Amino acid sequence: MKRAGPLAILGGKPEFGQPHHVGQLNLPEWIAIEKAFRGIFERQWYANHGPLVNQLDGAFADYTGVRHAVSVTNGTVGLMVLARALAAEGEVIVPAFTFPATAQALSWAGLNPVFCDVDPVTHNLSAVAARALVTPRTVAILGVHLWGRACDPEGLQQLADEFGLYLIYDACHAVACTHGGRRIGYLGNAEVFSFHATKVLNGMEGGCITTNDDTLAAKLRTIRSFHPGSTYAQVPARINGKMSEAQAAFALLSLADLPRNIERNRNRHDLYRQKLAGLPGLALLDYPDRESNNYQYIVVDVDAMAAGLSRDDIFEVLQAENVVCRRHFYPGAHRMPPFRNAPEYRGLELPVTERLCQRLLLLPNGEPMDGDDVRRICDLLITILDQAPAIRQRLGSAQ
Ligand SMILES: *Cc1c(COP(=O)(O)O)cnc(C)c1O
Repeated sequence: MKRAGPLAILGGKPEFGQPHHVGQLNLPEWIAIEKAFRGIFERQWYANHGPLVNQLDGAFADYTGVRHAVSVTNGTVGLMVLARALAAEGEVIVPAFTFPATAQALSWAGLNPVFCDVDPVTHNLSAVAARALVTPRTVAILGVHLWGRACDPEGLQQLADEFGLYLIYDACHAVACTHGGRRIGYLGNAEVFSFHATKVLNGMEGGCITTNDDTLAAKLRTIRSFHPGSTYAQVPARINGKMSEAQAAFALLSLADLPRNIERNRNRHDLYRQKLAGLPGLALLDYPDRESNNYQYIVVDVDAMAAGLSRDDIFEVLQAENVVCRRHFYPGAHRMPPFRNAPEYRGLELPVTERLCQRLLLLPNGEPMDGDDVRRICDLLITILDQAPAIRQRLGSAQ
């Protein structure tokens, strides 16, 4: 249904009084938060591997079905700690279509990211594309389970085994997602999750590394902390990458709320799909029924020719309506500092990554959004496409 009244960009009133963002907070019940924090204050144990962090490590290991879960300050630090724990030097094959932290963590650990293009259908690194980049200097592959969809696990494992490479994963999107019916967390040598406030599991910052490798787990625990702990493995460096009790309290409550939050995400995703079906030039990314997903990401591919407006035009018009979308992962990790200006990456052409960076639009999702909000955003999109010529004229953009 078209919305009544002119669009904000054409002089009307914004649809929403308050901005709606892409990653909105999933907040536990206040009463549960209060109880958890009272416990922290009563114990007077705020940091350094307190009972809640230990409880979270156990709970997340159980949840993912792996032997070890090592909680850390955030997903980025998790990737840095894991990359450093490999104690390797050389090249790591990594997709360019990802959050910049994926590649930057490698640089921090003294490794050289080698950017690979992604598959146009899965948006993920594929073993076929990665194989073409293997050199004698390659030491590892870092796959990313984008939008929670597993990143070619069999293909990449086979490639890693063939060349004796480490295989690690950025699983920051993939809490509660499965591969082959089994929760992600067990793949490769280790996987890294994020509990950032915008992710489906909210620790108000936080992250976790999962692995079935006892030796690697001992190294990760040693690198993570200067505090005397139970492990003293041989490691190349150490850092304060610990999670606090406050973060663990939030993450534990959020873990308990996951089924409910995912159900609500899924309902919103279904509603977006119903309402956007048949709109010219807008294709909602779907999640396969045979695997579980957290439905955190509402990803729309914009075909500018069919829609009559570019992704950037639509982004701008929605922004004026207080619908704050994201253009993941524009302009691509390889086009972000520090890689952008480094001679070895200059002139690198990754056509699929660049195409996705021009076309994908992430729509709002998360706890504060109800069905009515989703309907209003979809009605806005219907109105926007209907008024494409007037919008193009207003924005001065070419067809
Ligand atoms: C969020 C995210 C990260 C970084 O996690 P933080 O906890 O914010 O440091 C890394 N990679 C991907 C794909 C992410 O979405």
